[in-house]
Amino acid sequence: MTDPDFSTAPLDVVVIGAGVAGLYAMHRLRAQGLSVHGFEAGSGVGGTWYFNRYPGARCDVESFDYSYSFSEELQQHWDWSEKYAAQPEILAYLDHVAERFDLRSGFTFDTRVESAHFDEESARWRVRTDWGHDVTARFVVCATGSLSTANIPNIEGRESFTGEVFHTGFWPHEGVDFTGKRVGVIGTGSSGIQSVPLIAEQAEQLYVFQRSANYSVPAGNTPLDDARRVEIKAGYAERRALSKRSGGGSPFVSDPRSALEVSEAERTAAYEERWKLGGVLFAKTFADQTSRLEANETARQFAEVKIRSVVEDQSVADLLIPNDHPIGTKRIVTDTNYYQSYNRDNVSLVNLKKAPIEEIDATGIRTADAHYELDALVFATGFDAMTGALDRIDIRGRGAEALRENWNAGPRTYLGLGINGFPNLFIVTGPGSPSVLTNMILAAEQHVDWIADAIAYLDANELTTIEPSAEAVEGWLEECSRRASATLFPSANSWYMGANIPGKTRIFMPFIGGFGVYSDICAEVASAGYRGFETASVVRA
Ligand code: FAD
Ligand code: NAP
Repeated sequence: MTDPDFSTAPLDVVVIGAGVAGLYAMHRLRAQGLSVHGFEAGSGVGGTWYFNRYPGARCDVESFDYSYSFSEELQQHWDWSEKYAAQPEILAYLDHVAERFDLRSGFTFDTRVESAHFDEESARWRVRTDWGHDVTARFVVCATGSLSTANIPNIEGRESFTGEVFHTGFWPHEGVDFTGKRVGVIGTGSSGIQSVPLIAEQAEQLYVFQRSANYSVPAGNTPLDDARRVEIKAGYAERRALSKRSGGGSPFVSDPRSALEVSEAERTAAYEERWKLGGVLFAKTFADQTSRLEANETARQFAEVKIRSVVEDQSVADLLIPNDHPIGTKRIVTDTNYYQSYNRDNVSLVNLKKAPIEEIDATGIRTADAHYELDALVFATGFDAMTGALDRIDIRGRGAEALRENWNAGPRTYLGLGINGFPNLFIVTGPGSPSVLTNMILAAEQHVDWIADAIAYLDANELTTIEPSAEAVEGWLEECSRRASATLFPSANSWYMGANIPGKTRIFMPFIGGFGVYSDICAEVASAGYRGFETASVVRA
């Protein structure tokens, strides 16, 4: 595909990223009659699902919910094969969406946006890429992803390892065969926990290097048959409506009572039911589970019993049971046979709390008390979450202020959508929005719809710029912080807090008030004439 001739007319919108959010932005903004072009660093669409091809990668929100809702034809057409779809199926779905709505034609692939500078005189953004594109646009939509910038820890000697090295977030497209190999996996977050059981099945020996244990709940994944698909599709409208009103973008509601006000038998039955439903929603069984430590403790104890019942060696179970954060304050992992893996003869758990990694050398990993000989090393070490992708673009707003400077002490947004001093720059599912605490496809749709409506409002009123006021940003930061501090979340050293990246400012980055509540706030702000945003009419050069 050749690029359009950008020199003939400036674009209305540049979209950065062709993941779930960028694809929908392309579709929605084009449908509004805007001229839109997108740049994507990868060679294809899909973002997360294009890059994260590690064994076991699958969604932890049910497939029927983790899918676009904007097209009734699309949601009736697509047949999910499993309750939790695996990465290849999600990527096939996103490829289908791109094809169906002719979205690929709007993107230039293999191209990274390096800078976006706002020109105050013309009220336009100038966007430049690593391939020399130099385009101007009225608006920039950053659909750059919350979990798209891999974190590879700077461990002493990392470059000296002579075996194969992988990061779960950049998995080779042709796959990896670990047969007969001694493999080390560093990291026991969702990516590590999903991949361990499958790597264990292949490898001769697998060492799992665990710094902090995480809570994991079995997915209870099942194939979906025609009868189930018909049933879900028939009730899609209701399912979507419930999701959009919910806290996390899925059609489930917590028991509104305190975990402490019900009898022990009732509580255990409720936890059992959630455990069987599978995955991350276990954290939401009772309304106060992640806001009250005593309530949380009841869920933690339940999970501990479950882990102990699977892991045969109780000294290994001791290490696998987290003791440093309340359950649910880091994302609960949704696994398939994770704990069972430790019952295999070829899997060893290495406790980095007791003996940290000292160095990586040519043949493996040296901890404080042993050397592990490895043929392959897998970094399941996560991402520079929420701010990483934006931080790597040289974004400059009014007065050439750098976004990196503006966010030096943590991200500062209004509604997670806009930044004071950076007119006409929008973020999709950025910090200050429910983002990673929700079903992110529905969250992206909600954001993109809001952005598209805001642009339509400007155009209808002959306005050229929109930007949140400094007071609105300050107020929103306070609102986000107030809501977060009413929960147990800030007590965990999570990536939500930026705690996984050495030197990163610690601040709870998402809005924790819930997806439905947040959507109402956004709608209300818009209907009040974009309250908190300043709009202006600038005569363009
Ligand atoms: P991404 O999918 O991350 O896409 C962003 C795109 O922007 C990328 O393709 C990237 O290459 C591109 N980009 C970034 N910077 C630039 C630049 N400077 N120039 C050009 N291109 C750029 N969420 C859920 O709700 N449910 C799940 O089950 C779930 N599972 C997940 C599993 C994994 C393994 C991971 C890593 C995340 C998961 N998430 C899940 C979160 C997931 O990231 C979102 O659901 C969703 O896919 C994000 O879409 P996005 O378009 O916002 O970002
Ligand atoms: P993560 O949750 O940040 O986990 C990274 C792991 O690497 C942690 O165990 C961390 O230990 C460890 N680690 C990092 N640096 C280390 C170092 N220097 N030495 C030793 N260990 C180190 O990352 P992730 O597993 O990729 O998941 C990130 C998020 O992506 C998830 O929370 C989820 O939102 C999403 N995701 C979802 C799914 C899914 O099921 N659908 C799958 C994958 C990812 P510490 O905890 O001690 O820092």
